[in-house]
Amino acid sequence: MSHVESTAPTTLDADEAAELVELTRALIRIDTINPPGNERAAAELLLERARAWGLQADLVPLSDNRANLDIRLPGDGSEPALMYCGHLDTVPLGEESWTHGPHEAHLDPDGVLWGRGAVDMKGGVAAMLYGVALLARRSVRPPGDVRLLATIGEEVDCAGARAALEQGAMDEVGQLVIAEPTGMELVAAHKGALFLELTAHGRAAHAAMPEQGSNAISHLIRLLERVEQFDFGVDEHPLLGRPTVSIGTITGGSVVNIVPDHCVAQVDVRTTPDVDHAKLVQRLEKLVGAHRGDGVELELRVTGDYPAVGTSPDHPLVTAADRALSSVSDEPASRTTVSYFSDGSILQPPTGVPTLLCGPGDPNLAHQTNERVQVSELVRAARFFAELPGHVFGRSRG
Ligand SMILES: [Zn+2]
Repeated sequence: MSHVESTAPTTLDADEAAELVELTRALIRIDTINPPGNERAAAELLLERARAWGLQADLVPLSDNRANLDIRLPGDGSEPALMYCGHLDTVPLGEESWTHGPHEAHLDPDGVLWGRGAVDMKGGVAAMLYGVALLARRSVRPPGDVRLLATIGEEVDCAGARAALEQGAMDEVGQLVIAEPTGMELVAAHKGALFLELTAHGRAAHAAMPEQGSNAISHLIRLLERVEQFDFGVDEHPLLGRPTVSIGTITGGSVVNIVPDHCVAQVDVRTTPDVDHAKLVQRLEKLVGAHRGDGVELELRVTGDYPAVGTSPDHPLVTAADRALSSVSDEPASRTTVSYFSDGSILQPPTGVPTLLCGPGDPNLAHQTNERVQVSELVRAARFFAELPGHVFGRSRG
C-alpha cells in the first residue's frame, strides 16, 4: 500500500454550509428553462460571487441573454489545469404540479432543497464553485489552475460547450470533471447519442394497382430493419455494454387506398467510446445508398450528434477522485454509469482530455417534477471539489 500524505480533509462550518445552500437557492430562483435558456443572469450571479471570494472570473457573452462563465483559481503554472464544468440551463417543467414552486427554492427544515435544477445541475454548479472558493479562502496555490466552466444550453444542443471549445477553453486543460448528478458516485464513461432522420420518397398510385407506385413505407421499413441489426464492429464496453438502436417515430402515408409516396422515421442510436460518429455516419450513408431503387429515393439526416465519453477506470484522475471522495465520506467511493449524455460529449472526444462525472443529486430525479437534493449531499460535493485538486496534483497544499 502506498503512503499517502495525510492532511485533514476540508470541512464546511455551519456558516459555510449555509452560504453554499444560499448560493444554490439563488441559482434555482433564476429561471433558466431552456428553451430559451436566458442563462446570463445566473452567470452574472456566479461572476459576482466568484470575484467576491477571490477568484478570477470572466463572462463570455454568446447572445443578449446568454453567457458562459470562466472562473479560475490560478495555479503556479507547472501543471495543466483541472477543469470543473457544469451547465446553467434546466429542462422545462412538465404538466404535473409541484409540491413547492419550481423556482421558490423551498428548503425543508430536515435539509431537503426543492426546485428545478436542484439536481440537474444548479446544485452541482454551486458545489463546484464553493469548493474552489474554499481553496481560495485557504490561500491554496495548486500546481495547475483550477477552473470552473459554466455553460449555457446543455439541455438542448450543448451550444455553450461548443462555443467554449471553439474559443480554446480546453487548451491547457489536463482533466475535466463535470458535476452532473451521479449521487456522488464516479462515472468514468457514458454513452453517446446520434439522432437520425430517415426519409423515403416514393411514388403514389391507386392501392388497387400498387405495382404502378413505389411504396415509401414498405421501403423504409426494410431499411429500418437493417439499421436495427447494424453491426457497429466494436467490442462490448466493460461499463457501457453495446451500442443500441431504437426507432423512435415513423410517419407516412395519407389514406388507406393510396400507395404512400412519403415516409419519415427518427432513430436514436446510443454509442460507446469506441464508435467514431463520423465513420458511423459514413457507414450508415452507404447502407442507405444500397437501399435506394425501385423508384424510391432515401435520405439520411443527422439531427443530433453527441459522442460518448470514456476514461479508463484505472486512469490517475479516477483514482484521485476515489481518494478525494473517500476522504469526505464514511463510505468507500463507488462507481456507476449514467444513461444521459453531458457537455463531456462535446469537450472530451476532440481533445482526449480525461473526463469524469461526479455530482450531487439522484440522477433519477433529474428532469422530474419535484426535483430536490439533500443539503448534506451538496456539502459533501463542495468538500469533494475542494479536496480533488490536492489528489490530482499530488502535494499541492499551500
Ligand atoms: Zn444536466
